[in-house]
Amino acid sequence: MTTKALSRPLSPGDTIGILGGGQLGRMLALAAAPLGLKTHILCPDPDSPAFEVASSYTVAGYDDVSALDIFAAAVDVVTYEFENVPGPTAAHLAERVCVRPGPKALAVSQDRLNEKTFLREAGVPVADYARIDAAGDIASALAELGGTGILKTRRMGYDGKGQVLLRAEADAAAAFQQIGKTPSILEAFVPFEREVSVIAARAVDGTVRAYDVAENVHRDHILKTSTVPAALDAQLAAEARAMAERIADQLDYVGVIGVEMFVLPQGSASRLVVNEIAPRVHNSGHWTQDACLVSQFEQHVRAIAGWPLGSAERHSDVVMENLIGDEVERWQEILRDPASALHLYGKSDTRAGRKMGHVNRICPQRA
Ligand code: AMP
Repeated sequence: MTTKALSRPLSPGDTIGILGGGQLGRMLALAAAPLGLKTHILCPDPDSPAFEVASSYTVAGYDDVSALDIFAAAVDVVTYEFENVPGPTAAHLAERVCVRPGPKALAVSQDRLNEKTFLREAGVPVADYARIDAAGDIASALAELGGTGILKTRRMGYDGKGQVLLRAEADAAAAFQQIGKTPSILEAFVPFEREVSVIAARAVDGTVRAYDVAENVHRDHILKTSTVPAALDAQLAAEARAMAERIADQLDYVGVIGVEMFVLPQGSASRLVVNEIAPRVHNSGHWTQDACLVSQFEQHVRAIAGWPLGSAERHSDVVMENLIGDEVERWQEILRDPASALHLYGKSDTRAGRKMGHVNRICPQRA
């Protein structure tokens, strides 16, 4: 596959193409505007929240080759807000326009087996795992992994979808059936004490900056809150950031990356295991919008534009809370709180489990 490089950094007035029109695309477009950059969103959903804040948009499927060609000709660089960009779409675009982050990041993050293999080779600790191609692979793998494991589809799993918890006595055939009899991995169950994540950015020149570690709480498999700083000792927090930086380096990455990790007890101390990586801006990085000079969205725009990264330093303590489903109706009460910054995604339809917005509650750091 030939991939087009960007021969020069973008200039104000240039256009960033974004695949995907959800809230992440919307917040990327909002961050590009003050830097004088235009955005063009391509998304099949005519009701995309990103459309109303972008300079232009195209409603088209990711497999619509003529729409992709027109899109590629209209933009100066392409990025994406979701990791499941179909391989042929990314390849088609990459022959015509620079796509950042590049193909390696997509190939690694779209397939849990590739992801685990890559992380292990990069010297990053991951939970033990086994490749599962058929129900018959499960029993012996489960025994080897200590009797409890999580069966995860290799592709298209997110927010706990495509996963089954298995114990020793589990019915392997039923579990395999439940995840659609599709190529999978079985991962050792990790008795974590907390979940954390690191958002890092890497520039074209190889500069890497990681934000502070966020501590994440999920509800019904959906991120509910991110609290920063996380309750980790300084050494473990530095290790977490160094891991994210190493991953970005090893992927020869350009842009913002999210790295999700588990914190495990180890005697009286703790250790980290990386769960997964997301080659994009990440929900657990929304706190950076109000607690840092440069948000993850601006940082991503700077990186893919070939510009220098901004500061990733945090000036405030913060709790980010996702507003899910009808929680968005609390918007007036949130507006009355002087410590809260409200971010709504402009989605017309409120549905249970749908991310409608978020709030960053700020507590300035004492000197
Ligand atoms: P994932 O889709 O891999 O992010 O997993 C969704 C959630 O399932 C995680 O946020 C964890 O709460 C839980 N989980 C995933 N993998 C493991 C594991 N190996 N051990 C224990 N819990 C896990």
